[in-house]
Amino acid sequence: MNTKPTVMKFGGTSVKDTEAFGRVAGIVAAEGGTNPVVVTSAMSGFTDALLDAFDISRKGDASAGFTSLGDHFERHRAVADSILGSKSKKAFLAELDLAKEELSGLLMRVERRSLPLQMLRDAVVSYGEQLASRLLADVCKEKGIRTRQIDARRLILTDDEYGSAKPVWDETEELIRLELKTLLDDGEVPVLGGFIASNRAGETTTLGRGGSDYTAALIGAALGAGEIQIWTDVTGVLTCDPRICSDAKTVEVLSYDEAAELAYFGAKVLHPKTIQPAVDYEIPVRVCNSHKPSERGTMVLAESGLSENRIKSIAHKTGITILRISSARMLGSYGFMSALFQVFERFRTVIDVISTSEVSVALTLDNTDSIGKIVTELERLGRVDVEHGYAVVCIVGEGLRASSGLASRIFSTIDDVNISLISHGASSVNLTFVVSETEVKEVISRLHGKFFD
Ligand code: ADP
Ligand code: ASP
Ligand code: MG
Repeated sequence: MNTKPTVMKFGGTSVKDTEAFGRVAGIVAAEGGTNPVVVTSAMSGFTDALLDAFDISRKGDASAGFTSLGDHFERHRAVADSILGSKSKKAFLAELDLAKEELSGLLMRVERRSLPLQMLRDAVVSYGEQLASRLLADVCKEKGIRTRQIDARRLILTDDEYGSAKPVWDETEELIRLELKTLLDDGEVPVLGGFIASNRAGETTTLGRGGSDYTAALIGAALGAGEIQIWTDVTGVLTCDPRICSDAKTVEVLSYDEAAELAYFGAKVLHPKTIQPAVDYEIPVRVCNSHKPSERGTMVLAESGLSENRIKSIAHKTGITILRISSARMLGSYGFMSALFQVFERFRTVIDVISTSEVSVALTLDNTDSIGKIVTELERLGRVDVEHGYAVVCIVGEGLRASSGLASRIFSTIDDVNISLISHGASSVNLTFVVSETEVKEVISRLHGKFFD
């Protein structure tokens, strides 16, 4: 393998129907000489549908759960019907029938709770990527590309945290290299489903919603790829969420630090875990548009340089809860923070933003699954107030910490909005603050207008 491979990851909207599958095959064919490795998500909407089917079955009606998937099976069949030749179509439809049979059995197990539900949930949801990768491999083959579908669950070994499993890196790296390098040497194009993996017991696990990006990064890191490409439905990382500002523009270059902050604070276009493997192995990440393949999109590199107004993009995340803990015991005490963090560690809950004064700490949480237990424990340390319905806004740009006058320009643009919490200075590339969820769209629109129009 002389040329470094290119990992090409296609998201759900890039494989949503016949036309989209055809476009992807064209993009992979054009990459020809650079040893492509293809990673695909499930067809758009199928993962949500599988999760709904799981829920319906859990509530006691596996048969209705299975029936609810009918249209999605048909979408797969329609792509096969339109693109595949008769022999490979027959083979794919047999695979689809087998998947339906297996899913029906799994949903019955969910109804009867004959295995732990978390485990069954991952097994059910994995069919999205299993079927999409098989179909994409067949479609590309039909267009003359020598593809081979590989079951990603054989390559990515994780812990047992169903729904958000962590890869065991050393072994995963070796498995990926062992399996894919020979294929690439033989000139074949591996096609894998993202998002899915397995634990040591061989049970299916998943890497968290949107986790196909992470699969691509893991594969890119293990193979020492020349580039990890994230193909999606917009041209790169934009100056803000395009669903809020339709005039959001493509950011040409981002640093790994900038991209990591944006992804973490809600820019859905990149899964937050995607950047770390790329950083570790210094692999460029490109975010590009499968609907407009000729546009360059965004390059994510070790260094990006300063932008004219210092701000590259604005991310936001809704559904945020603020916890405020006040205690006179904090004054001059050095064990308080440690006791506080241990509570969050015990309940495996990540803190997003934190700010402290002498006698109080305010922090934000995205995941409130264990909030009741967390509050009970925290009440041993001091008074706890819980406030729901907030949004984090994260303004990102290299050199932001060192730019005088910028904070004042930002906050004067929204001087009639109540800011509930601010965090600035921990990283040199971001300024983060929290506002009410009801005001976040207005805040983003105004800031975007001020800095990008
Ligand atoms: P895929 O199915 O390709 O993984 P996602 O839906 O996960 O696609 O991510 C792409 C979507 O992310 C875009 O359609 C856009 O609506 C949303 N998005 C949110 N913030 C941003 C941003 N800053 N830049 C680009 N896209 C963003
Ligand atoms: N199909 C999975 C999801 O919808 C993974 C992904 O798309 O990246 O979350
Ligand atoms: Mg995604």
